[in-house]
Amino acid sequence: MNDWLAHRARATPDATALVWAETGDEWTYAALDDAVDDLAGRLAGLGIGPDDHLGMLLSTRVEAVRVVHAAMRLGATLVPLNTRLTPRELDDQVELADVTAVVCGEATEQLAVEATDAAESVPLVSLDEPQWEHVEPLSAASSEPFDRADWADDDRLLLLFTSGTTGDPKAVTLTYGNIYSSAVASAFRLGILPEDRWLVPLSLYHMGGLAPLYRSTLYGSTVVLRGEFEPGPTADDVDSYDVTGVSLVPTMLKRMLDSRGTLADSLRFVLLGGAPAPDSLVERCRDYHVPVCPTYGMTETASQISTARTQEAVEQLGTVGQPLFGTDVTVVDEDGEPVDQGELGEFVVSGPTVTPGYYHNPEATEAAFSQLGLHTGDVGYRDEAGRLYVRNRKDDRIITGGENVDPGEVVAVLREHPGIEDAAVVGLPDEEWGEKVAALVVARDDELTAEEVEEHCRERLAGYKLPRLVDFTDELPRTASGTVERAAVREILTAPDR
Ligand code: ATP
Ligand code: MG
Repeated sequence: MNDWLAHRARATPDATALVWAETGDEWTYAALDDAVDDLAGRLAGLGIGPDDHLGMLLSTRVEAVRVVHAAMRLGATLVPLNTRLTPRELDDQVELADVTAVVCGEATEQLAVEATDAAESVPLVSLDEPQWEHVEPLSAASSEPFDRADWADDDRLLLLFTSGTTGDPKAVTLTYGNIYSSAVASAFRLGILPEDRWLVPLSLYHMGGLAPLYRSTLYGSTVVLRGEFEPGPTADDVDSYDVTGVSLVPTMLKRMLDSRGTLADSLRFVLLGGAPAPDSLVERCRDYHVPVCPTYGMTETASQISTARTQEAVEQLGTVGQPLFGTDVTVVDEDGEPVDQGELGEFVVSGPTVTPGYYHNPEATEAAFSQLGLHTGDVGYRDEAGRLYVRNRKDDRIITGGENVDPGEVVAVLREHPGIEDAAVVGLPDEEWGEKVAALVVARDDELTAEEVEEHCRERLAGYKLPRLVDFTDELPRTASGTVERAAVREILTAPDR
C-alpha cells in the first residue's frame, strides 16, 4: 500500500486537507501532497530513507503535518518527541529509539541541540533558519528522487513513547496495520464523513494528536490546527471553522466551557480521553448539548480501545463505552483469570490495533503480554451491555492537565537534593488540572524552603511534572512493611491547618 496522502490527493485533490486556524490559511489535498513531496525529496537529499528513525521535535505547526506524511512517503519510521521534556529526558529517548536524524524548528532547535549532546552523531535538520552551525537548514538541501514506500501491515510506521507514568517512557512499536486498523475502527464507531472538520488541540507527539491526522487523510476529511491550546480561541475555532469533531483531554474541555459557556452546535463529537472524565463535566456537557464521547485508550493500542456515544455517556455516567470494532477486552483477576461482569479486574486488550511490543525492551514486552493479550495495568469493570468503566491504575500515577506523571520520578529528583532526606509525591484533586503534583518532604535541617525545592525540580523536570505544592514533615507515614502510605500523605498535605 502506498501512502494515504498520495491516494487521497488522487481521489479528492480539491478537498480541504488542512486549515491553520491562526490565519485561516487552507491547503487542499493536492497542495498538501505537493508540499509533502517537496519535503520528502529534501529529506532524501539529506540521505534520509526507509532505514531511518526520523525524530520529530516540533511544536504544533503546519510543517509538522508534512513531516508525518513525508516519513510515510519515504518509508522511514517516525519518532515523535515530546517538546515539553528536558534535554536529559529527550536524550534518553533519542538513544533508546535509535533515532538517526531529528527534524526541529526555530522554537525547538535549542532543545534539539541540547538533547542530542550525548548522542552527538545524530544529524539535526531545521525547518527554519538555524542558529547553530551544525544544524542543517532544510531549505538548503537539494531535492533528490526517492522511491515511494510500499507499506505492508507488519512494517513499523511509528515508534511512539508512552507517557512514563509507571516508570521510564517505553518506545511502542506501532505498525502500519495498527494505525490503519485504529483509523478504520475509530471512524466506524464515530461515523466519520469526508465532510467532517476535526480540530486537533492535542500535541502531535501523543497518539491522541496523531490519530486524527491519519484518520482524516484516510477518509478525506479536514484537520483544523492551531499552535498552542488556549481555551477561548480554541473554543472560537469550533465556531469559526464549522468544526464537527474535536479531540480533548478533560482539563481542556473544562477550561473551554469555563471560558465560553458552551461550544458551537456544529459539533458532532467531542472525543474526551487520556484521563477520567469527571461526572460533573459530563453532566455539564449534557446540560449544554455538547456531544461528549468519553474515550479510553493508550499508546500501545494506537489510541482508542473504547469510546462511548454521547447518549450512553450521559445516561451511564462514568462509562468509556464499548470496545471498538475488532478490539477485545477481557477483565481478569490477579491470577489472570477472567472475572464476571460487574467485578473489578485488570483490562487485557487484543485485536489489530495492539502493538507487537516495546522497541528494544523484550522484558517489558514479555511482562505485558499473556495469551489473552496486552495487560493494560488499568483496573475497572464491564456492565451488562459490555460497556467499560475505568477505575484506577494498578499503580498510583498522577494525571495533570492530561499529562501523566510518574510520582517515582519526581521523588528520585527530590532525593538528589542534598538538603532532602526523603520525600513522597502524590496527586491531589485540582479544579483546573484534574490533579496536581504535591510533595511531602523530610528536610535535613530547617533551612530548606519550598522555593528552593521548586527551583531544584525546575532544572530537572518538565513543567507539568513540577510539584505545585511542597510541604515539610519530620517523618513520612509508612505502612508496616515500610512502604509510604499514600493516603496518609494526601491527608497531611490537605490538612486544613496547612
Ligand atoms: P506508561 O505506560 O509509560 O506508564 P501511560 O500509560 O500514562 O505511561 P499513555 O499511553 O499515554 O501512557 O496513557 C495511557 C493510559 O492513560 C491508560 O493506560 C490509562 O491508564 C489512562 N487513560 C486513558 N484514557 C483514560 C480514561 N478515559 N479514563 C481513565 N484513564 C485513562
Ligand atoms: Mg501505559
